[in-house]
Amino acid sequence: MVGAVQFLQKKLKMGQRAIEYLPEPSVDYPLVARPEGGHRSRVAIGDAVFGDGRFIVVAGPCAVESAEQIDRAARAVSALGAAVLRGGAYKPRTSPYSFRGLGRDGVELMAEACRRRGIPCVTEVMDPRLIDEMAPLVDAFQVGARNMHNYDLLEALGHTDRPVLLKRGFGATLREWLLAAEYVARGGNDQIVLCERGIRAFGDETRFTLDVAGALWAQQRSRLPVIVDPSHATGQPELIGPLCAAAVACGLDGVMVEVHPEPAESRSDADQALDPAQFEAVMARITTILSVTERTL
Ligand code: PEP
Ligand code: MN
Repeated sequence: MVGAVQFLQKKLKMGQRAIEYLPEPSVDYPLVARPEGGHRSRVAIGDAVFGDGRFIVVAGPCAVESAEQIDRAARAVSALGAAVLRGGAYKPRTSPYSFRGLGRDGVELMAEACRRRGIPCVTEVMDPRLIDEMAPLVDAFQVGARNMHNYDLLEALGHTDRPVLLKRGFGATLREWLLAAEYVARGGNDQIVLCERGIRAFGDETRFTLDVAGALWAQQRSRLPVIVDPSHATGQPELIGPLCAAAVACGLDGVMVEVHPEPAESRSDADQALDPAQFEAVMARITTILSVTERTL
């Protein structure tokens, strides 16, 4: 009996200590939070400014595969109104036997295609040691869903002068996502765009579940621009257009869409890639909704 009382007293004391030493702040991401009535940030990737009212479309293949492929993609998406080219050279793949990208060669091919077609690019970085060598070649760094919790990477990106497109981990809460952005901002780099790319939910009828409400919550609570990626969220080309329309209609800052000149030949995420004609139809849909909301690409 005495033992139990002592145990309870000890537990109570520990609880009190916890209250004393670990006060829960009202927001623990002060740098990226949006103060009451405060302005939203603008983030420029090349000429594409996120957060100023324009709707920014980021498009391109899942992975850079060859000079010809990335150049055809760059030409097609820029002609159809995309403002930023995407394409992975360092690919985080679920299976180590899948195509993991062309690495440094891929970054160089992408930089060359962007220069030729006059469009800025974003590509994923997974290793902090590669930031310095990639920075002169890319307009922005992408942090993929799997690396949202890679805190050394986030901290290192805080010291670059390149914008960071930060995807939400598919198992991450909204708070964890904003805290990941806070890691980058703490290093001095506040050029951050948030990208919701689908979270794990029940069934596998869609690849993930696009959390539109979560994206809007992040847009209201943080000062950062927020875009969504319906390609990875659904894995299904026919759902991408309607979800892009939804993103416009609810006032988000843009979308990221996978487009490949020959989807059937895509070495990764072939099933979800749009061909240029399908992408043209998606852009037409986006433009229609934009016109009623009095916004532009
Ligand atoms: C990607 O955009 O290339 C990608 C790998 O997406 P995610 O990190 O969202 O899975
Ligand atoms: Mn992909």
